[in-house]
Amino acid sequence: MWPWTHVAFGYLLYTGLTRGRSGAPPGDVATLWLFLGTQLPDLIDKPLAWTFDLVPSGRMLVHTLFVAVPACWLVHRYWRRRENPEYGVAFGVGYLSHVFGDAIGSLLLGEYAFVRFLVWPLLSVPVDEQRGILSELATADPTLSPAFAVQAAMGLGIVALWAYDGAPGMAVVRRHLGRGRNR
Ligand SMILES: [Zn+2]
Repeated sequence: MWPWTHVAFGYLLYTGLTRGRSGAPPGDVATLWLFLGTQLPDLIDKPLAWTFDLVPSGRMLVHTLFVAVPACWLVHRYWRRRENPEYGVAFGVGYLSHVFGDAIGSLLLGEYAFVRFLVWPLLSVPVDEQRGILSELATADPTLSPAFAVQAAMGLGIVALWAYDGAPGMAVVRRHLGRGRNR
């Protein structure tokens, strides 16, 4: 999955969860924790593999459930102690949706070796052939395939849903940008 696909998938799950639990859309700060959770696994594993060449795969050290689950638990515990458990829930949904989102793509393609990262180091992971997002983009299919059209339509639908929810997260960003400008 691409970074923006992880954001969209995580947001879809999280807004469904919050609406199911309370009937309300996601909160501002919680949505930012969700976005962080959807990106963190790649922000750590991809540079370690592709930039520093320390590990063979960009889905390994923090993509495995043996790290993902304790990490989500720790963040949730931290925010529960500060009486904001929702931030921890949002982070956990984002993080786990990233990990399972990576696995779903490979499962659907029948590339089961690329699902083994979920239980690394119990099972080994294949070495990445692509070594950067730019090279992935360069080799991506440039034609407007039906799969791409469906993904783009779904992405636009989720952006519309986020806007309908009141664009949660934007108020915090705007506040910080405003503060920076006033300095
Ligand atoms: Zn990933």
